Amino acid sequence: MAGELKSRADVAIVGGGVIGLTIARALAQRGAGDICLIEREGVGHQASFAAAGMLAPQAEADSQDDFFALACRSRDLYPNFAASLREETGIDVELDTTGTLYLALTYHDLGDIQKRYEWQTAAGLPVEKLTPSQVRELEPCIGENVAGALRFPLDVQVENRRLLSALANSVEKLGVSIVTRTSVSSLDIRKGRVTGLTTSRGFISCPAVVIAAGTWSSFIRFQPESAKPTVAIEPVRGQMISFDARPQVTRHVIYSPRGYIVPRQDGRLLAGSTSESAGFERQVTAGGMSSILQNALEISPSIASLPIVDTWAGLRPRAPDSLPVLGPCDEIGGLFYATGHYRNGILLAPVTGELITEAVVAGVTSPLLRPFSPSRFDLVRA
Ligand SMILES: Cc1cc2nc3c(=O)[nH]c(=O)nc-3n(C[C@H](O)[C@H](O)[C@H](O)COP(=O)(O)OP(=O)(O)OC[C@H]3O[C@@H](n4cnc5c(N)ncnc54)[C@H](O)[C@@H]3O)c2cc1C
Repeated sequence: MAGELKSRADVAIVGGGVIGLTIARALAQRGAGDICLIEREGVGHQASFAAAGMLAPQAEADSQDDFFALACRSRDLYPNFAASLREETGIDVELDTTGTLYLALTYHDLGDIQKRYEWQTAAGLPVEKLTPSQVRELEPCIGENVAGALRFPLDVQVENRRLLSALANSVEKLGVSIVTRTSVSSLDIRKGRVTGLTTSRGFISCPAVVIAAGTWSSFIRFQPESAKPTVAIEPVRGQMISFDARPQVTRHVIYSPRGYIVPRQDGRLLAGSTSESAGFERQVTAGGMSSILQNALEISPSIASLPIVDTWAGLRPRAPDSLPVLGPCDEIGGLFYATGHYRNGILLAPVTGELITEAVVAGVTSPLLRPFSPSRFDLVRA
């Protein structure tokens, strides 16, 4: 079922990943009129499905910059986001608040975690430093090679596939028109404003469009061509392995500087990932699997005996500066970007939904969004 394509909408969203769905939900909750979400395949099939679901801004941060502020704000929205989704849909997105460990496995790693510990403690952020025996007591699966660790009690995880189901269910209940198996090819621009979308199934007239097409965001053309600003988003492939780990080997999400493992409530243990420029190819490769296994076994040698039950890859959407691209397009009225979420789209979904809705409905660009404006790039012109 592709869903009926209406001839007009008040807001059209291009892309039904975690970002498009979260924005659609937030707009519908604000009463933004007729909202249409257009998705080329089925909703939530791409990067959002492939992700590990870690909500861990502190674990990898080396400074308290604008991105860190945005990411922490979004993480802190998660408890309410998850609870309201459960209330609306009955779907538990398995927000797991056990916390995240970041291991030092070499002398060099120890220096890095010490710096992270110092700046985050000075900034008043909750972080605990653990000795090798403390960390192995907490998670006995961790190898004897561990040299120390940080524990981030507020860095948590969500089951991103359940999150996608809950969002799709919620958006449908809120009356958003979801049109799948339909590709948007171009935006129609008249007198410096968006007036509609051309899709593989016809034209939709609409005064506001949000581009949330992940790594394919740059393929959407502009008519006439002369009105064409394009943000250059590229794919970064990430591969994953899923093990059957019953009973579960760890309660925490565990990072090392080279990889991570994530326990799921259903007994799966995920291990990731790779960061590769491989165009739009989504295959898993022998090299990718080998490096993920090596890094997972470095964290926990006990993984060696676990059966592998699944492998997959997804394409992270990355802008040239690796930061998200969020907010109104200054050159074209009614056009908004919500893309380039790269390694953090699951984490950034709630704040993206909230702030893009504010921009579309009230015309207000939050100070939190400004550093991520599409205008920071020299947009490519025809
Ligand atoms: C292996 C891996 C692990 C990850 N782990 C994490 C993690 O632990 N935590 C985290 O926060 N993030 C993680 N990420 C990143 C996260 O998955 C992405 O940042 C996020 O999913 C991006 O969401 P999106 O909705 O922008 O893109 P997508 O989920 O890719 O959705 C974009 C959608 O747009 C549709 N589309 C594209 N072009 C068109 C068109 N022309 N017309 C109509 N529809 C179109 C596509 O079909 C697709 O469904 C991970 C990613 C990978 C690959």
